[in-house]
Amino acid sequence: MKIRQLPERLANKIAAGEVVERPASVVKELIENSVDANSTVIKIELKEAGLTQIKVIDNGDGISKEDCKRAFLRHATSKIAFDTDLFHIHSLGFRGEALASIASVSKVTMKSSMGDEAGTKLYLVAGKIIKESKSDARKGTEITVDNLFFNTPARLKYLKTIHTELSHITDLIYRYALAHPQVRFDVIHNGKSIFQSPGSGNRLQVISGIYGMQVAKNMLAIEEETLDFKIDGFIAKPEITRSNRKFITLIVNGRYIKSPALSHAIIRAYDTLLPIHRYPIVVMSIQLDPILIDVNVHPTKLEIRFSKEKELIALIERMIRDVFKKQTLIPTIEEKPKNMQEKVKTEQEKFVFSPFKEPEINQVNHNQRVVTEHIKEPQHEERLVDDKPNDDLEQEAISFSESEDDFNENTNEREGYNNEQERVPPMYPIGQLQGTYILAQNENGFYMVDQHAAQERIKYEFYKEQLAKPNGTEQQQLLFPLTFEFTTNEKTFIENNYDQLQQIGLFLEPFGNNTYAVRAFPGWFPKGQEEEIIRDLVEQIIQEGKINIGKLREEVAILMSCKRSIKANHYLTDQDMVRLLEDLRKTNDPFTCPHGRPVIIHFTYYEIEKMFKRIM
Ligand code: ADP
Ligand code: MG
Repeated sequence: MKIRQLPERLANKIAAGEVVERPASVVKELIENSVDANSTVIKIELKEAGLTQIKVIDNGDGISKEDCKRAFLRHATSKIAFDTDLFHIHSLGFRGEALASIASVSKVTMKSSMGDEAGTKLYLVAGKIIKESKSDARKGTEITVDNLFFNTPARLKYLKTIHTELSHITDLIYRYALAHPQVRFDVIHNGKSIFQSPGSGNRLQVISGIYGMQVAKNMLAIEEETLDFKIDGFIAKPEITRSNRKFITLIVNGRYIKSPALSHAIIRAYDTLLPIHRYPIVVMSIQLDPILIDVNVHPTKLEIRFSKEKELIALIERMIRDVFKKQTLIPTIEEKPKNMQEKVKTEQEKFVFSPFKEPEINQVNHNQRVVTEHIKEPQHEERLVDDKPNDDLEQEAISFSESEDDFNENTNEREGYNNEQERVPPMYPIGQLQGTYILAQNENGFYMVDQHAAQERIKYEFYKEQLAKPNGTEQQQLLFPLTFEFTTNEKTFIENNYDQLQQIGLFLEPFGNNTYAVRAFPGWFPKGQEEEIIRDLVEQIIQEGKINIGKLREEVAILMSCKRSIKANHYLTDQDMVRLLEDLRKTNDPFTCPHGRPVIIHFTYYEIEKMFKRIM
């Protein structure tokens, strides 16, 4: 074996494997270059989600005639020169790899001029310069990437659908538009304009263009400067939430980054203001001395390292908390959070005192069993792991009724079927622990019930039943239609999945721009939460990427069961507790919440006596 240095073009192709994962990676590198070149207008034209063509046209500084060819060499950059520069990176690029990598896996045409003389035009195939000519003197750069991955078929095969690739691209452009509100981004897909940011420097306008007016109106400005950090941006009021954390945009020195640690800090700061499994919409721009970060830890520069991460996290948490604290001090706005709490409270009361029509469980021959053992092995424990809807769900949804039969048989065999006795005999509350657990007793022993999990279980079974009913999508007409604004991505998905949405009772009528109107919705939607539920449903479906009715029903039931369930630290009256325990007892599976966590912990008197060594 002989060791040899790889030729430059092969090395570039290898590097491309890291940097150029999909069309969105190309768009990212090209717009970063345009931003670095001080562009104020960046136009992005795509064909077939960039698979056929990506063209980025900017009005930036341009590249000199001598530099044009050099730009395509590996490790060729104008942004750093010395070792020490690595600690002072003010630009988005610095690795000098992007153009070389992109060119090695596509056909690239570059046109660039600094505006003072005729420009240069280059045409490269698989990284090799094939043609070179003069071009016009328009100041700026235009790079066209054709047939991406034409010479790396394996990578091409790995790509997802046009819809997925396009949504990766638009998501990325949204983030850069949020990071650079002074730049006008203009995105055209297959000849159609799909996004435009005004480039006015006003970040709230960009937010409005991406997430809609409704969201923009409910954003609170944040701003703070310390010795090390300067932070500004917008955070959504807690009443506007989303079902995942993708709506948090973190920008560090103009670079869109991902940081689970910082995202967590933000979510933590919202604390109990957010309902369970809900996430805020946040755009946060952090400026700091580049010496405090290492941007060279990831080839795509999406993750960075902070040397003062702890301090930054503490600052972020404090800032957000302060905003909400201040909010409640200002009388005009004070109403909002207070109202919300009241709304939540009344929902809870409504639920506890006048619950849904009770599930019609046949008291005599439903799956009843005597609970004699310590309840630690819930029957459906494997159904769901925490809050991530998993892939087994589909199977589980299908086999749900089967497993219930199994369950009956098993319990009959094991413990003897006793019509008189119920699965959980009536439990009588003794009190409440920490506003979180109901303590109860009956002839079988002592029970600790997680009140939140219990309510989730009750609601889950109710919704699951509603969803399964043939008339489950019976429509309730609205006097005034509800309107919804969606992002371009969401809109495309809605257009493509219109029929399936109807199947679950969602009729979204196009209402101009990215707005849809809803004039009716399934009658079983809980009152007062229709709007939130419709948006969540659409979001949930978009996240899945496709609609599977069985799986969707299961997920929707879980989603709705989490909504406004009484939380920990909520004191219940005796009456509330009696009611909750009764409802829980009547569910098919009172032992686990829809997320698979235990609802009831039970100690038999035998176990208790053993613990106290009254018996050995
Ligand atoms: P990097 O951005 O890390 O320097 P790239 O391969 O992305 O590396 O780009 C190489 C060089 O080409 C850049 O350093 C810059 O000088 C030049 N360049 C690339 N794109 C543009 C552009 N749109 N406008 C002006 N100069 C550009
Ligand atoms: Mg670059």
